[in-house]
Amino acid sequence: METKKRIAILGSTGSIGTQALEVIKENPSLFEVEVLVAHSNAVLLIEQALAFKPNAVVIGDEKKYQEVNNALRAHDIKVFAGEKAVEQIVEMETIDLVLAAIVGYAGLASTINAIRHKKPIALANKETLVVAGELVTELARENGVNIYPVDSEHSAIFQCLAGEWENKIEKIYLTASGGPFRGKNKDFLATVKKEQALKHPNWSMGAKITIDSASLMNKGLEVIEAKWLFHLAPSQIDVIVHPQSIVHSLVQFEDGSLKAQLGLPDMKLPIQYALAYPERIRNNFKRFNFLDYPQLTFEKPDLETFTNLQLAFDALHKGGNMPCILNAANEVAVQAFLEDKVSFTGMSDLVFNTMQKTGFIKTPSYTQYVETDQEARRIALHLL
Ligand code: NAD
Ligand code: MG
Repeated sequence: METKKRIAILGSTGSIGTQALEVIKENPSLFEVEVLVAHSNAVLLIEQALAFKPNAVVIGDEKKYQEVNNALRAHDIKVFAGEKAVEQIVEMETIDLVLAAIVGYAGLASTINAIRHKKPIALANKETLVVAGELVTELARENGVNIYPVDSEHSAIFQCLAGEWENKIEKIYLTASGGPFRGKNKDFLATVKKEQALKHPNWSMGAKITIDSASLMNKGLEVIEAKWLFHLAPSQIDVIVHPQSIVHSLVQFEDGSLKAQLGLPDMKLPIQYALAYPERIRNNFKRFNFLDYPQLTFEKPDLETFTNLQLAFDALHKGGNMPCILNAANEVAVQAFLEDKVSFTGMSDLVFNTMQKTGFIKTPSYTQYVETDQEARRIALHLL
């Protein structure tokens, strides 16, 4: 690469955002930070801005504007605040790549706007494709925009597909660690407290995705994400539990050959691959040692205990705005679980009931997705 890629990080203070900044810091000749966006962590946003000297920052929470502006004004860094600014900042001409790493539905509008303005996307925010996958991928196609997956499973599939673009996929296997409650039954799950659910065996991530991983909703969202990223029919996507999290996913081609991508669980690798694609960058991340993993094991996911994964498959098959309903209900459920307002298994009941009660639309417009999200949240909150 001759010139540096100028990157906008949406969600810079989160788990993905901070790891992306580490990757950028380790590769100053390849990347520079053009924009940082965060919701409310003003202290960390200021610290990041002073270290990386972006052109502009946005703080979603308008109450924090003064604090951020006071700290950065003297450093020639533009400061904006509010939801609209988060959405609009991606239009800046000097942005070469947008890392979409906001969590949840909140990341949808900015990602769509970035695609409309022909910015390549490194996508961590899987909820964007769950909520409006058809619309987002169609928009990307119209605008000639590439979406590079950051999610480790989808990065694995993408890496397996390199050099195989013309070859048909028979099916893909998304691997799942199984989370902290693998092998447990429903009675056990009903008693689980948030402190237990927040302890993931292999990955350190933001709170929402950690709960989703424990409930297997994360894998369900990833199945839907995979459908849109790789243009697959539901029958072409399978989930296999692999507790060691070394095989990050697999592709099976039409000749029956399987390709897998392996490595230690470290999000910096898929982040780096998405930022630098199609190049691979040398780094000093810890290397895999076979002797540390004498056994890699695989088992069937337990869809009866972990109902969320079944609900996600149901939403995938139903299509239309059903995945959007699933996502909205799940965001309400996870928030409520983190506030001790619903039990671990109660989350699945809430998602199931919201899916029953929210109006179904076969081919929603953008406005209808927004309305579906609002309606499903209203219903889920009412059911709580
Ligand atoms: P996180 O909670 O650690 O960080 C979320 C970031 O989004 C923060 O910077 C926060 O300020 C920002 N944000 C939240 N709401 C916002 C809003 N309304 N406006 C502007 N900014 C807002 O989450 P995370 O774990 O980094 O996950 C981010 C996304 O990446 C999620 O969609 C998640 O599913 C996906 N992902 C994460 C991992 C991981 O290892 N953490 C792995 C794969 C995929
Ligand atoms: Mg993942």
